[in-house]
Amino acid sequence: MTTTAETMPYAEAIAAFEPVLGLETHVELGTASKMFCSCPTAFGADPNTQVCPVCLGLPGSMPVVNRMGVESTIRMGLALNCSIAEWCRFARKNYFYPDMPKDYQISQYDEPLCFDGWLDVTVETDDGPRAFRVEIERVHMEEDTGKLTHAGGATGRIHGADYSLVDYNRAGIPLIEIVTKPIVGTGELAPLVARAYVTELRDLMRSLGVSDVRMEEGSLRCDVNVSLNRAGDDWGTRSETKNVNSLRSVERAVRSEIERQAAVLSSGGRVIQETRHFHEDTGRSTPGRSKEQAEDYRYFPEPDLVPVAPSREWVEELRGTLPELPSAKRARLRAEWGISDHDFQTLVNGGALELVEATIAEGVDPAAARKWWTGELARIANDREIELADVPVSPGQIKHIQRLIEDGSLTDKLARQVIEGIIAGEGDVDDVVAGRGLAVVSDDSALLAAIDQALVDQPDVAEKIRGGKVQAAGAIVGAVMKATRGQADAAKVRALLFERLGVSE
Ligand code: ADP
Ligand code: MG
Ligand code: ZN
Repeated sequence: MTTTAETMPYAEAIAAFEPVLGLETHVELGTASKMFCSCPTAFGADPNTQVCPVCLGLPGSMPVVNRMGVESTIRMGLALNCSIAEWCRFARKNYFYPDMPKDYQISQYDEPLCFDGWLDVTVETDDGPRAFRVEIERVHMEEDTGKLTHAGGATGRIHGADYSLVDYNRAGIPLIEIVTKPIVGTGELAPLVARAYVTELRDLMRSLGVSDVRMEEGSLRCDVNVSLNRAGDDWGTRSETKNVNSLRSVERAVRSEIERQAAVLSSGGRVIQETRHFHEDTGRSTPGRSKEQAEDYRYFPEPDLVPVAPSREWVEELRGTLPELPSAKRARLRAEWGISDHDFQTLVNGGALELVEATIAEGVDPAAARKWWTGELARIANDREIELADVPVSPGQIKHIQRLIEDGSLTDKLARQVIEGIIAGEGDVDDVVAGRGLAVVSDDSALLAAIDQALVDQPDVAEKIRGGKVQAAGAIVGAVMKATRGQADAAKVRALLFERLGVSE
């Protein structure tokens, strides 16, 4: 029996196959109440305390559409360059599973509220930024399901669990689903395009104020469809990796699925149309349910709700409420900060835009703000494999550190130690500086004492410098830095040294 590799190295996979992507993104809207009842939507309440007969599906209860839910969906549709339906209905998606107490979910099926739009995204390549237009198939409204917790097993999955708990607080929270048309022509950039698209969607929703998109609370979830075909062939069979809920995971899910499908196809196998589950820890996915036989949800128009028929006047009024969109805002900021396309794109791709903006708003100059978030802090995020925004250092703290550097109390090197201390939980900037004794030794007499000591310790070096060999100064400066545990400003030590010896550089 021969065994074949389960994955093919990415570069090889991309050389042999062309990927096609499709992204289905679900986002919880930030409305105060649920989609079809007046229950609150706040996150984190005790289980089953934010429920009523409507969202519990009790007999005789009647849903009513949340106007803000419709409004937010239309605004999102407009921002995505979609057409807005003049008339559309909700649909019942019937299925039997305890996460939905009604045994159906109210969704939209063949009559989405918004359709046929696009969103431009940019990714950074070795040859500079490259733009892709991602076409949007539809933006529709639906309601979220309840949350099941499978207890007693090792994996948290239903298989092997002893019992399951259900929380209906989430059931009925307004969701919009944004579905792309198949995204083709991305080649090796596919994982980056997928990530850039979800990032752009997130930023768009935040700027519209329709959702604050707290990804760590699961308010944005992405189903990632991937297929591969050989050049010139028809599109391949797609798999659908469900509920990918971080930007980084979207990128990894696409990449790992390309590597997996390439191995299957090149060993003569076939890709099965199935859902898959992505595992954050391994960066790989495992099979879920097969979709070879399409599930029959017996969709039909929701009889308990009136159709949604937004007047053209209302739609135009909503168009007028669209704020400066992220792409326009980026163009403006790039001009204001006076940086190159490339530097700006690096900053955007690194998730640093908002952080730099917030740091500048604190009063830090643009170049310094950029340097922190794309340098030291980006490195930390990368080392820890977390998003830049999740590095536990705030724009306000960066401002504080920068002020200490500017008034000479910290060197860059000491500042990095302050950041290390903040991350290690040693407190705020001042606490770390005090706790670690990090203030710069700027007292000239202390520095001169250390210089004199070093000159006494290394008389031969002192002679060389006096004789004009200024390169020899490094040894003395080094000794002083060591004596002050790195807390001196090396340039200043050097200047003082020459002054002491009466030598000019
Ligand atoms: P489903 O109900 O199975 O999730 P949808 O139509 O809601 O189907 O979404 C399918 C997603 O997959 C869409 O984004 C679509 O553009 C995309 N898609 C369709 N065909 C392919 C393919 N061959 N390869 C990759 N993605 C595809
Ligand atoms: Mg789907
Ligand atoms: Zn309710």
